Amino acid sequence: MAGMRLTVIGCSGSFPGPDSPASSYLLEADGFRLLMDMGNGALGVLQRHAELFGIDAICVSHLHVDHCIDLSSYWVARQYAPGGPKPPIPVYGPRGTAERIAGFGGEDVASFRARFEVHELEPRSLEIGPFRITTERMNHPVETFGFRFEHGDSKLAYSADTGVTDALVRLAEDVDVLLSEASFQSDRSNPPDLHLTARQAGEHAARAGAGQLVLTHLVPWYDRERSLAEAAESYCGPLSAATSGLVLGLGTAR
Ligand SMILES: [Zn+2]
Repeated sequence: MAGMRLTVIGCSGSFPGPDSPASSYLLEADGFRLLMDMGNGALGVLQRHAELFGIDAICVSHLHVDHCIDLSSYWVARQYAPGGPKPPIPVYGPRGTAERIAGFGGEDVASFRARFEVHELEPRSLEIGPFRITTERMNHPVETFGFRFEHGDSKLAYSADTGVTDALVRLAEDVDVLLSEASFQSDRSNPPDLHLTARQAGEHAARAGAGQLVLTHLVPWYDRERSLAEAAESYCGPLSAATSGLVLGLGTAR
């Protein structure tokens, strides 16, 4: 059975950086393309890795602009495509996704829903294309979902944005790869219940028994090498920092 392929479209934390859009990840299996988050700048870089209208489903972890605003631009592309509007594709997001994203562009919600079939998330298991997915609420100031994706024997977890939470450990139990945010560093006082330090990301990965940890949502003003060093203090498995364009094969796609 074929495995999953993860392509990092954007991994810059909180806002785009010089080398990466904000959060967006392309997950492929069996020819199905799922886009996880769509932050600032993602739509441009996405076109290096997938055909503009080749996306089959979109998941949005939460409605902070660095995770969802390019869905507003993608609505424009699908609405005004040469040859006529593109058929709706499913979008899974928190409560109020349609209203918020339509509002960014000043569009009415009915027009937005004509291009995107919006499903509001709850903490549960669901199937999207070939993926078995489990969602849990994360520890972040707005409703935010973390994700676990399974396909065949390959397993991937994505933290979205979160402070310390056991829910992330549950989602990441025995995964091949944990894609975890590491927005903060521990040499300063950070607000609670917002983001993880790199060391905390490592702690979650270690508790979950994750086979590999990829740090993401790295904020441009912090040194990446320092974040990696911090994570290595709490997690002793294979460790790396995401970059735009990074491709990871899980399972037999490896
Ligand atoms: Zn956020």
